[in-house]
Amino acid sequence: MAKLLKDTPVYVSCPHCGKVQHPRLKWAKNHKSLKCRHCGKNLDLREKQAQSLIERTLKAVQAFGQALESLHAEAKKAGKAVKAKKPKKSKGKKKAAKKTKAKKASKRAKRAKPVSMMPVEAPPTQPSP
Ligand SMILES: [Zn+2]
Repeated sequence: MAKLLKDTPVYVSCPHCGKVQHPRLKWAKNHKSLKCRHCGKNLDLREKQAQSLIERTLKAVQAFGQALESLHAEAKKAGKAVKAKKPKKSKGKKKAAKKTKAKKASKRAKRAKPVSMMPVEAPPTQPSP
């Protein structure tokens, strides 16, 4: 929420030159006036129009922040449900992974033996008769 207040711009137009200024919402809330970047004159942030723009920008940011917060809560809740359901399985998966690696290694060892032994046994049986 604090980041949203700091990052969101408030669009106000200068009553002297008409150029649109965009001070940050947090800044605008904490200052009474803004010096126009174009004409250098002071733009009164306490005026009705500027106040209205600031208020509506604040409401939009608050609504956005609340919506975002509820989505955050929803994701957290879903994450907790996942953790509650599978506390043991995550450990089991790690063990299973180790077992599969061991199985693969043993399969390789078993395969290697017959291949290397076959040619050695085969030649003597053919020429002997
Ligand atoms: Zn101006």
